[in-house]
Amino acid sequence: MPERFSYELKATDGKARTGVISTPRGEIRTPAFMPVGTAGTVKAMLPESVRATGADILLGNTYHLMLRPTAERIDRLGGLHRFMNWNRPILTDSGGFQVMSLAELRKLTERGVTFRSHIDGSRHEITPERSMEIQRLLGSDIVMAFDECPALPADRKRIEDSMRLSMRWASRSKEAFGDRPGHALFGIQQGGLEQDLREESAKALRDIGFDGYAVGGLAVGEGQEAMFGVLDFAPDMLPADKPRYLMGVGKPDDIVGAVARGIDMMDCVLPSRSGRTGQAWTRHGVVNIKNARHADDPRPLDEHCTCPACTGYSRAYLHHVFRAGEMISGMLLTWHNLHYYQELMQGMRDAIAAGRFAEFERDFHAQRAEGDIAPL
Ligand SMILES: [Zn+2]
Repeated sequence: MPERFSYELKATDGKARTGVISTPRGEIRTPAFMPVGTAGTVKAMLPESVRATGADILLGNTYHLMLRPTAERIDRLGGLHRFMNWNRPILTDSGGFQVMSLAELRKLTERGVTFRSHIDGSRHEITPERSMEIQRLLGSDIVMAFDECPALPADRKRIEDSMRLSMRWASRSKEAFGDRPGHALFGIQQGGLEQDLREESAKALRDIGFDGYAVGGLAVGEGQEAMFGVLDFAPDMLPADKPRYLMGVGKPDDIVGAVARGIDMMDCVLPSRSGRTGQAWTRHGVVNIKNARHADDPRPLDEHCTCPACTGYSRAYLHHVFRAGEMISGMLLTWHNLHYYQELMQGMRDAIAAGRFAEFERDFHAQRAEGDIAPL
């Protein structure tokens, strides 16, 4: 295993890229999808099951973990990897986005943000320095700079002020992160949908210098067309020799479109969350397993899928356990969804390496256009 964090770009096809991130805890094949382990678990999955779907890296949430069980407790217990029994790479977010979306009584100043916990109302502060400390205590392999992410739509002045604050915080994050061989710090580009603000942000980040760069501030209500509009130029502003991470995305077609525009890493709660609400993502789009049409259907969700839900169980069984509120319902559908997402990523990596990504995209959209198999 290497002692340092590094990124090797292996092949490009159009703007799509495939490569490998090396860390002391293992390699991350890109384009990579990171399942979200919010509170130290990918809900309904054992860590070895998450690995079996093909995941090389998980995402952990600073906001949730700092509140419960606290970063200090996780540190005393040997760090997040040992605590949750996942010995491969972990990326942690900075806490900024979730403070904005979940916490109560937020107060934003130049110094940072103070807020009350959504769990027990207790008072907390996150600054760039504190965010770096929490992520160090957790033992995160890829640390995110602390930023502020305004919801869209927002007026230009709000986006501009917020972006400049995030760039000052990015500089303080870098300073506080220090020199930690084997661990990476990623900067986060902001600037909403405005091309000139995105460039100003990218330049500020390049001047500070990071191990990787995220496109932040998207997937916050702007819609796919506006998001792709930004992705048509934003990744190109970030260094080509470093990984590029699109935060909080997305649906399978968002992911394919982002990879086509030069994104290397993504994360989203969607495959695990929708697994618990009876939604399965397949090559043919979304299957709502709760629908009555599945009650007598002996066929698998997807006859080509090799996951445990598809090889061992019928649609009728999956329908039954969902309707009966059995825990295995969320377990099987989450496994299937994560398996589908990872298979999608592997398909894209292979296609880019073989120079046939455009063909992959065509097939992907054609299969979805077909829709689910006809009812019996
Ligand atoms: Zn499956």
